[in-house]
Amino acid sequence: MPVIYIDTNVFLDFYQASTDRLAVFEDILGRSKSVLLTQQTVNEFRRNRIARLTTLADHIRKGPHPQLHTTAVVQALPGFQEWIKARDAAKKAAQDIASELASWVADEKSDPVLVAFEQLVKSAKLVTFDDPLIERARRRKLLGQPPTSPDKHTIGDELIWESLLTWTSDDLVVVTRDKSFLDNRAILKGEYEAATGKRLIELTDSLAAGLKAAGQEAKKIEEAEKKLPKSFDDEPFPTDGKCLRCAGELEETAYEGSDGDEAWWLFCTKCGHEYFPRTR
Ligand SMILES: [Zn+2]
Repeated sequence: MPVIYIDTNVFLDFYQASTDRLAVFEDILGRSKSVLLTQQTVNEFRRNRIARLTTLADHIRKGPHPQLHTTAVVQALPGFQEWIKARDAAKKAAQDIASELASWVADEKSDPVLVAFEQLVKSAKLVTFDDPLIERARRRKLLGQPPTSPDKHTIGDELIWESLLTWTSDDLVVVTRDKSFLDNRAILKGEYEAATGKRLIELTDSLAAGLKAAGQEAKKIEEAEKKLPKSFDDEPFPTDGKCLRCAGELEETAYEGSDGDEAWWLFCTKCGHEYFPRTR
């Protein structure tokens, strides 16, 4: 049976899903014997989860609250007190949800998605990297051989691909939302097959399609995937300190946890739009 590699951005996007994230993770967990992960993927997930959760909490906290009409005429109407109560209750509920999400960041054990992910790490197949593998990833970067990380200095894509090339025991399916992989399907297939003697059966951005190609249809995941937002990694990242939507000034904001966790991203001081650094 082929193994299926699931990329960091696929896991992270499920934090934003409007459907039941846990159901998706549990479904993947049920197939963990055929899931292949790399050490780089695991590290990236742990790092980026914080930024996703912190902004999710922020959005809920600052979300739109109904503006109350405060003219005397309106205030005198019978429904007005009820309206105030409903607004305050909605505000409080939003605060509660935001605090709950924020507590997931601080206390890892309370984040059910992370708990499920760590379980997956324990039971899935895992490729760790060593110095020779890092060296090969560096060389790949220098030669500009795909997949190449868009950033000048990082070699995340290269590390993941070099890790996958060491998997010589099974045919492989790759699920990623990363363009450096998706745009180079043919090259990567050829290289995988030459290096491992196995087939790269499918390289897709859809988890449901990947599972199907691996002979493991997953209806629940197919449904959840339809409701996924566009990946953050698809959005261009501004490089000149100006908002790409309104040209407003961008400022950096960051989260720093007690045990060395940290995350940063940019927000527009004019329109409030947030930009996340790419997953890698
Ligand atoms: Zn803006």
